Amino acid sequence: MQDPIDTRTVQRIRRALLAWYAHNARDLPWRRTRDPYAVWVAEILLQQTRIDQGTPYFERFLAAFPTVEALARAQEDAVLKLWEGLGYYARARNLHRAARLVAFERGGRFPETAEAWQALPGIGRYTAGAIASIAFNEAVPVLDGNVKRVLARVFDIAAPIDQAATESRLWTLAGALVPPRRPGDFNQAMMELGATVCTPKTPSCAACPLRTLCEAAARGTQAERPVKGKKPATPHYEIVVAAIEKNGRFLLGKRPPSGLLGGLWEFPGGKVQAREAHEQALKREIREELGVEIRVGGLAAVVKHAYSHFKVTLNVYRCTIESGTPRPVAHSELKWVSRAQFGRYAFPKANLKFIGVL
Ligand code: SF4
Repeated sequence: MQDPIDTRTVQRIRRALLAWYAHNARDLPWRRTRDPYAVWVAEILLQQTRIDQGTPYFERFLAAFPTVEALARAQEDAVLKLWEGLGYYARARNLHRAARLVAFERGGRFPETAEAWQALPGIGRYTAGAIASIAFNEAVPVLDGNVKRVLARVFDIAAPIDQAATESRLWTLAGALVPPRRPGDFNQAMMELGATVCTPKTPSCAACPLRTLCEAAARGTQAERPVKGKKPATPHYEIVVAAIEKNGRFLLGKRPPSGLLGGLWEFPGGKVQAREAHEQALKREIREELGVEIRVGGLAAVVKHAYSHFKVTLNVYRCTIESGTPRPVAHSELKWVSRAQFGRYAFPKANLKFIGVL
């Protein structure tokens, strides 16, 4: 089949998917409402997060901040604490900034179109399409990993889906399919089909509502779709971390507000450079970050962690200050914190992996 799609096929795909969704949609908390705020929080939270992991976070977040005004009034530390462990903390910071814009500069009025939603921080084309179609019935498409896979199979697309030209073609296809009535249900049906039936490894074609319309199923190419370009190898960094203790308290630094893990609290440290011993690297990092000399003691923990574009091994050493008074050179703030108080601070997940052994 060549793009654009013929009207009859479009109608058949819409009908089949909406009928299937009516009986197969999972009962998820954000699907019980069309409240733009709840839909928005869910869409931000579920980016790069699995549904089973995201659901308790969604419930806790809505319980703590039930309205956009409540979120707008919150301290950023409290927002980040609720996001702790989810990763991609820029999502939380942007959600908070956008809530302030809606509550304080738009008088609590939400944007009503995908285009207007995209003007808020942290909202790209996908998220804007999801919120506008679900909460405001705007007939705009969504294109996440699940929808890309379904479309690449239904239309048996052999070009790599991570190429800009293919992505643009997929947006066009998704836009042609989304119906003027029930666009939100249709978009959710596409995502649901990708999540539960047209899964990456073994799609359940026999149970699929699009079986008779699917070109990959007809040609037996499902396992080869979608085609992905080669990814560069993931870099790995060796990191040294200082658990600096004084009178039963540890020195924590708050990361600057923007950038990776911005606004979270962490144990100071940094990358080991080529041909550097751990002790030497740790002393250099702490001198640069805090302006003090330390004595490096025993190794307390070694933990591995994977971020989206790199992996790290954290080597955590027990340390004491030899000379100087710590200053926040690389951090926005420093604090001495006891073990009993760790729970009050939002840490990156990699720090949570070793905090229990200190
Ligand atoms: S028939 Fe199979 S490959 Fe095609 S959309 Fe359905 S599950 Fe995916």
